[in-house]
Amino acid sequence: MKPVRTRFAPSPTGFLHVGGIRTALFAWLVARQAGGQFILRFEDTDKKREVEGAREHLIKSLRDLGLEYDEGPDIGGPYAPYTQSERLESYQRWAQRLIEAGRAYADPYTPEQVQGFREAAQAAKQPFLYRNHRPENPPAWDGSQPLRFKAEPKAYTRTDAVMGELTTGPEVIDDFVLIKSDGYPTYNFAHIVDDAEMEITHVMRGQEFLSSTPNYLNLYEALGLEAPILAHLPHIMNEAGNKKLGKRDGAKDVLDYIRDGYLPEAMINFIASMGWNDGTEQEIFTRDELIAKFSLDHVQRSGARFDERRLEWMNGAYIRELALDDLFDRVTDFWPPEAADYDDDYRKKVLGLIQERLKFFTELPQLTTFFFADLPLNPELIAGNKQLKKFDASELGNWLEQTKASLLDSDFSVGDLTDRLNALLEATGQKPGVLFSLIRIATTQAPASPGLADTMAVLGRDRTLARIDAQLSKL
Ligand code: GLU
Repeated sequence: MKPVRTRFAPSPTGFLHVGGIRTALFAWLVARQAGGQFILRFEDTDKKREVEGAREHLIKSLRDLGLEYDEGPDIGGPYAPYTQSERLESYQRWAQRLIEAGRAYADPYTPEQVQGFREAAQAAKQPFLYRNHRPENPPAWDGSQPLRFKAEPKAYTRTDAVMGELTTGPEVIDDFVLIKSDGYPTYNFAHIVDDAEMEITHVMRGQEFLSSTPNYLNLYEALGLEAPILAHLPHIMNEAGNKKLGKRDGAKDVLDYIRDGYLPEAMINFIASMGWNDGTEQEIFTRDELIAKFSLDHVQRSGARFDERRLEWMNGAYIRELALDDLFDRVTDFWPPEAADYDDDYRKKVLGLIQERLKFFTELPQLTTFFFADLPLNPELIAGNKQLKKFDASELGNWLEQTKASLLDSDFSVGDLTDRLNALLEATGQKPGVLFSLIRIATTQAPASPGLADTMAVLGRDRTLARIDAQLSKL
């Protein structure tokens, strides 16, 4: 058995979104599971589409998500170079072999001539195929013309590791360009040469490549190569599930998620679950569990839905599992500016209170600012509260006065505060939904907060009482 070698082969044409990362992740998982190698290769033969900085960005995305690769453009390896534009000599060598075997020819036509063929086919209601126009005496290939593959049309039945058995007829096989007139190979040619030279055993890629596969199989045969195991991954669909996820439906740069405070391990879990499950109801998988349990035959064939709320939920689930100290270290850059005046001890207490509800780190200011600064009084919080708007100001004022009186000699421990709050329920004859909402609003000016006694204990006596006074003066 050959050692398993998989690769991620992005073109440096932009940022990496969840779909790209999923391809990388599945390839990484297959390699790690088998104790094999995972390789990064840049496919940069389309110079017009290249985006400045994209290479660094791709590398950073893989690193930040923990998808470490064993060989790649920046770290080298036994099959270097790992960048297609540095491998032109290889493509020339393989192209020569095809020419010598009579399986490649110089394309003598101008774009206008090709357009003419295309239109003629259209007019005759025939599919357009280059191979119907093979030149009888092609010129010798001098590099100024495209070099075209001379296909041998035939039917294929093949097994895709995800899509299962697929059958196609000879009509889908055509003469495609191997090397363009600018001297660069096409993706169609280059990836086959590279995968062969780099001894890649499994190719994972998006289903958009499915329709080209019969042509690739034809080329593998012409080159005398055995095709690797092919696994075509279903599209990632938008949230509604009715079209391919695009930038407009939130196909965000994965690094943006990291910047917004999503945990790499939650991202990986979420991305793995887009199109894959282990056949049980389990949703949370550690990295090691994914490596152990992943299998291509559990990848679904239909499109996987991108559900950002599920990502939020999952990230929250990971946050809840973190030890407080670990979480504290990770949120360093996300505190509201007002937190700068407080020591680690206080911040940690605050963090401990909101850990349960934190879904991603950029929510931190919204959930915690009132612990560090007095928010402006917001009359809407009472006026818009279903329970409280039924009462008039004097009644609310009364309850707040009672609260104040009761808190004056509290030691502000959670236990003592809890007892006093419960006693106040009895004294006022109100439900928690009424009385505690009122006290919560008065002491936080926020629409939501952690448990009331916990919150007041962290805020402390002076701040709590001062805020109740402020609310009283505005009722
Ligand atoms: N360079 C191709 C892309 O970015 C890779 C396809 C493949 O993995 O073979 O889509």
